[in-house]
Amino acid sequence: MKRLTIILIIILTFNFSLKAQEKDKMNKKVTKSDKEWKTILTPKQYYILREKGTDNPGDFGYTNNFEKGTYYCAACDIQLFESDSKYQSHCGWPSFDDAIEGKVTYISDTSHGMIRTEIICTSCGGHLGHIFDDGPKETTGKRYCVNSTSIRFEKSKK
Ligand SMILES: [Zn+2]
Repeated sequence: MKRLTIILIIILTFNFSLKAQEKDKMNKKVTKSDKEWKTILTPKQYYILREKGTDNPGDFGYTNNFEKGTYYCAACDIQLFESDSKYQSHCGWPSFDDAIEGKVTYISDTSHGMIRTEIICTSCGGHLGHIFDDGPKETTGKRYCVNSTSIRFEKSKK
């Protein structure tokens, strides 16, 4: 009886650690040194994503891209936004009213004398932009204001 209990405990523990490993894989974190990022990213990408820079506002990049597809993190290539969430905000940066669940992390940012919420890639910590409360009222009311440099668009194949 005692032996059976021990075997059961071993099986349960093993099963549990397997599940934890699976979960780890799903929420895989990308950690690289600044030196490594510098070899992967362009100087502009490094400035925006790792040094929290901001693209100049304008109609370039993905600001006026409304094709169907998915936006990925330019640094670690994880999916961040679907084109269904993109809308025309006329603010000069690509704007979304929602992010793919769990892919974006929110951080309080008090730099430049403003109280804002910074958004970063959950996976690699790359700076994406900021989130504001002036988004479309008929959906989430949020505006994810994202730097074109921080993301990469892939057109839907459908
Ligand atoms: Zn990332």
